[in-house]
Amino acid sequence: MMNRVEKAWVLAAVVGLVGPSLAAAQEGDPAVIAKMQQINAQLKAKRLGIVVEQIDFFTIGGARPSNRVHAQEFRWVPNDERRNADGNRLTYLVDESDGKTASGLTSAQTEAAIDRSLATWAANDCLDNVGIVKRNDGGTDPDIFDSFFGFGKLGTLFLADIVNAGWLPRDYFEAVGGAGGGRGILAFSVTFIFVEDDGTPTDVDGDNRLDTAFNEVYYNDNFGDRRGDRAGNPWGIDVALPGIDVETVALHENGHSLGLGHFGPPPDAVMNPVYAGIRHVPFSGDEAGMCAVFSSWPD
Ligand SMILES: [Zn+2]
Repeated sequence: MMNRVEKAWVLAAVVGLVGPSLAAAQEGDPAVIAKMQQINAQLKAKRLGIVVEQIDFFTIGGARPSNRVHAQEFRWVPNDERRNADGNRLTYLVDESDGKTASGLTSAQTEAAIDRSLATWAANDCLDNVGIVKRNDGGTDPDIFDSFFGFGKLGTLFLADIVNAGWLPRDYFEAVGGAGGGRGILAFSVTFIFVEDDGTPTDVDGDNRLDTAFNEVYYNDNFGDRRGDRAGNPWGIDVALPGIDVETVALHENGHSLGLGHFGPPPDAVMNPVYAGIRHVPFSGDEAGMCAVFSSWPD
């Protein structure tokens, strides 16, 4: 239970009365939040105008908390020139260089499954105003989060709004999530927001929400790796448990990319925090969530 003072702070944050720096929430796993803040100190020093805001882990077995730096919500800003916006449309890219899996899937197979997941969200009536556009992988490294853990270079920013960054080794997930991450985390989404040089988040459209800069999704290649401790749960296409279905995980992760958080169960939802077998069709709660996020998106 929250006490009266905490309730007042939460209410103030929800209605936008408190500035983002004052309303810093730092919800989640303290160790993960600490890593996010270390990364943000490095990003601030580079004066890139962006920081990490939220990480959501999609797990098998036990759920993990969402990790968010500020209490204030964040949203995409339509036609935001800072992220090379394609008008009011949102763009995504699939990094083909990390698309094949130890379980034997080709990059073409995983990319097609990711494409289907984006097409599913795009078909939601509440996303009619949000065209979802694919940007082709031109071979340039399109992601940055892995570089802070020694698993890649600091890639090129803003090649797309949403980057499905591919399948990375077990150790990366252990490093990001902490103990058990390599075995428990199927995939995660990391959202970056725009900040001023002093680190203050921006709200350029005055919607009382911080401004999403870009989102990256990483998939754990430990699943189905015969040398690892998840050999019995291989990534596959349209596979039932104990296999892990790429399209189901991509639908969940790109739900985060578009702006949804975790909820339930109950009710059952694509956005439940723990994997529960094939789910290729959003549930009513998922649909309602998208409608809430995009209700004021312009024509
Ligand atoms: Zn999730």
